Amino acid sequence: FDDRDGWIWMDGAMVPWRDAKLHVLSHALHYASAVFEGERCYGGHIFKLREHTERLIASAKILGFDLPWSAEEIDAACNATLAANNLTDAYLRPIAWRGPEEMGVAAKHTKVHMAIACWEWGAYFGVEQRMAGVRLSMAPWKRPHPDTAPTASKAAGLYMIGTLSKHAAMDAGYDDALMLDWKGDVAEATGANVFLVIDGEIHTPKPDNFLDGITRRTVMGLARTRQMKVVERIIPESDLARATEVFLCGTAAEVTPVREIAGRTYTPGEITRTLMTDYSALVHMSPDDVAKRAA
Ligand code: PMP
Repeated sequence: FDDRDGWIWMDGAMVPWRDAKLHVLSHALHYASAVFEGERCYGGHIFKLREHTERLIASAKILGFDLPWSAEEIDAACNATLAANNLTDAYLRPIAWRGPEEMGVAAKHTKVHMAIACWEWGAYFGVEQRMAGVRLSMAPWKRPHPDTAPTASKAAGLYMIGTLSKHAAMDAGYDDALMLDWKGDVAEATGANVFLVIDGEIHTPKPDNFLDGITRRTVMGLARTRQMKVVERIIPESDLARATEVFLCGTAAEVTPVREIAGRTYTPGEITRTLMTDYSALVHMSPDDVAKRAA
């Protein structure tokens, strides 16, 4: 993915894609002192840009570092990177990390660096095609207790168990893996949050050991606008047997129906279809339209 045309914003300057490199002694490479975001731009508008920027700043703070850029500057840099690459429908990846200025566990004297890359991410399958649903395996790894890892940060290091779980799923012929938490309750997929429909209500785990997704909060709002009941609670694994519909949500996944979890099958239904459609309509609205709708 490194050898291509394009521009990457790096520490305040637009750098040719191929030249956006860092030193092998970067602290982040050795000790995972990196935090990132995943954002999407629809028709020239980055969906929930400020929320993503604020989460990036908060993620860094949890790992003990401050970004040398304000939220306004980061927002502007995201938009400038899109413009430099001439993109309107894209995925954006801002990342901040500790540099190579000091080598060892201690990193107080490292510089904090930041980059923003983006790439085209436009056409996706239509609602009806996606209603077929994806298949999840049960992940071999558990989400750690929040005292064991900084689980509220979108920290690179927390993705180690995600990659291992996703690879295990793919090796077994599945699309993704459902992760339980350290006590065996339902947590999330490797890059998306999970919702279950039980007795016609929408249930989702409390985000006490995994990322409280911006899409997750958006979908909960959309469901409540439709007078659907949304319940946030601890969800034991056994509740997977009670669910009639299951779906994932995240910036990349949007709302993705699930048709199987490790041999147990589900039929994506009306609640999933409604939220998929509502989410798609919302992300494609301009910020002006969103403001008008709220007024
Ligand atoms: N959980 C994980 C592990 C993720 O990587 C993501 C994607 N950022 C999410 C949940 C969903 O978060 P969001 O809706 O903010 O994209």
